[in-house]
Amino acid sequence: MPINNDGIMIILSSPSGAGKTTLVSLLSKLNNFEISISHTTRQPRANEVPDQDYYFVEETEFQRLIKNQEFLEYAKVFNNFYGSTRTPVINNLNKGKNVLFDIDWQGADQIKNKKLDYKLITFFILPPSKEVLFERLTNRDMKDKLIAEERMKQFGRDVLHWINYDYVVINNDLDNCFKKIQKLIDAEISDGSKDYDKEFIRSHIDKLTS
Ligand code: 5GP
Repeated sequence: MPINNDGIMIILSSPSGAGKTTLVSLLSKLNNFEISISHTTRQPRANEVPDQDYYFVEETEFQRLIKNQEFLEYAKVFNNFYGSTRTPVINNLNKGKNVLFDIDWQGADQIKNKKLDYKLITFFILPPSKEVLFERLTNRDMKDKLIAEERMKQFGRDVLHWINYDYVVINNDLDNCFKKIQKLIDAEISDGSKDYDKEFIRSHIDKLTS
């Protein structure tokens, strides 16, 4: 079991277009929270800051990190590699900092299966409806409707992983969603009662996938 001064690990995953990156950034402003900065082989987007949003690396460097077993988890997502290096995460946790991960379900599964000696809470973020999701996907830096349609199909596959998460939260309003996550984290830390309705989530997912 964790030694109590250690930080906790919080994973946020979501299918593309659910607004998770903004949520992670809001949560990171809370006292004592640090974001785990991932390595990726994908090209930076126009608004991204290297070494802050991601460590952008060549595939050879990524493969070297895999070989040296430096990753706590890594995965291939949309044809690019993404991974979280172990050392900064463990150092932060040992200093009592809570570490936030913005990673996909493959990475979440890997961290869960490692059964590390630190408390782990996993969240899966969903859009409020298929219509809103489609709108969010077409408003991105992808002009092409076909790409949005491809991502909608991917959504249908990704959403099935909700079952492996501790909590599924619907992002219908950013502030609301942020508060809900914050309350659940607080309740987990203090072992208090959790305001969470799994049946409601199940019916929401049925609607999203029908
Ligand atoms: P994007 O390219 O849009 O920034 O991210 C694409 C997907 O990769 C998102 O679902 C994001 O959460 C995921 N991702 C980002 N970093 C990591 C990582 O270090 N590991 C894993 N497994 N997924 C990541």
